[in-house]
Amino acid sequence: MDFHLPEELQMLKDNLRRFVDNELIPIERETNDGTDFLPGVKEKLEEKAQGLGLWMFDVPEEYGGLGLGHLSKAVMWEEMARTIAIPARNASIFGPRVSPILYSLTDAQKERWLFPVINGEKKSCFCQTEPEAGGDPGGMRTNAVRDGDEYVINGHKRFITGAGDADFAQVVTSTDREKGSRGGLTVFLMDMDTPGITRLRQQDMMIADRPWEILFEDVRVPVDQRVGEEGDGMKAAQSWLTEGRLRHGARGIGVIERCLELACSYAQQRSTFGSKLSDRQTVQNMIVEMYQNVHQLRLMVYNAAWRADQGEDVRKESYMCKYFGDEMSFKAADRCMQIHGGMGLTKDLPIEQFFRDQRSMVITEGPTEILKMALARQIFRQYGD
Ligand SMILES: Cc1cc2nc3c(=O)[nH]c(=O)nc-3n(C[C@H](O)[C@H](O)[C@H](O)COP(=O)(O)OP(=O)(O)OC[C@H]3O[C@@H](n4cnc5c(N)ncnc54)[C@H](O)[C@@H]3O)c2cc1C
Repeated sequence: MDFHLPEELQMLKDNLRRFVDNELIPIERETNDGTDFLPGVKEKLEEKAQGLGLWMFDVPEEYGGLGLGHLSKAVMWEEMARTIAIPARNASIFGPRVSPILYSLTDAQKERWLFPVINGEKKSCFCQTEPEAGGDPGGMRTNAVRDGDEYVINGHKRFITGAGDADFAQVVTSTDREKGSRGGLTVFLMDMDTPGITRLRQQDMMIADRPWEILFEDVRVPVDQRVGEEGDGMKAAQSWLTEGRLRHGARGIGVIERCLELACSYAQQRSTFGSKLSDRQTVQNMIVEMYQNVHQLRLMVYNAAWRADQGEDVRKESYMCKYFGDEMSFKAADRCMQIHGGMGLTKDLPIEQFFRDQRSMVITEGPTEILKMALARQIFRQYGD
């Protein structure tokens, strides 16, 4: 058994770390407003990022991308998460972000919805959450009713990231309330300027993200804008969800590592009551806990990502990567802040943003409690009578 990364991947990791250290960390407070890049910045960073040879790393080779595997992507997310130069959600300097749902489309649908995203001509948003149904999509009220060659869609979505400048939306609807998330959900693609779609308002948050609330009123959508068959909604979202959870875990590694770097160097410089903070056992305990957590997290994420690359079903492992990674990285930001005292609260350092961002991660794309519920069901199936 060899726990080392393959040589090529280790080189990629080292290159990316140098890039983050030299090009991103020095300007991390000047690149974005927390949710998107400031004007002109993205293009400059994209130009530099292209030099790394990682352009469109997330896009499969058959569509012109690098088609990196899960482990390689985990390593990339880990390294990029060490800085707040790239907003934590919905931003990339390595080419457009493509929702995996779009790869499952028919050839004709790909022409209209996938290729413009890959070419950077169009952006999309993903609309699942509703006022009455967040972590439990089976309870969703937005319904799609078949009417000849069309569906009529009515409903209310909220917390939709990127809806402000999205050209089209991937909208999860209920086509069978009784079946709920077990075959009762269907995804439709629709241009944001389709009659009946209204962006109601942006929602201010403790993080810089300002997701949207959107109303769908008698929106008529042709059948050929449906993803897969009726009831395929969760199937379409499944691969995306598993990959998203691995990404949360991998990002957590990067955040904890940076918190360790910041906390150790500050504790070694700062003296109180005649001793360095690094000599205080209480502070050492915090550092050791962060170190242990990042070690555990890295083993979990690399193992799950490697197994996913072998074609194994890693749903259970992905639940653990998501909640452990988000919880422990939030805790690391909190401990790092504590070690820094008042300095930890200032915007001179990235800690307060890690603290806010990672707190939000514990809720979004599946709160810890819901992931543990899903995991518990599988554990009982495996170990119970
Ligand atoms: C910044 C941001 C961006 C977002 N972007 C998007 C987006 O682009 N598209 C989209 O569709 N959604 C998006 N969301 C929505 C996000 O995914 C949901 O907020 C999340 O899934 C939780 O849903 P909810 O807020 O309705 O909480 P609920 O499902 O109402 O749960 C509330 C709390 O109850 C507890 N809980 C719930 N169920 C259980 C259970 N079974 N057992 C124990 N405890 C439980 C948990 O502690 C949970 O945090 C975004 C949210 C935010 C904040």
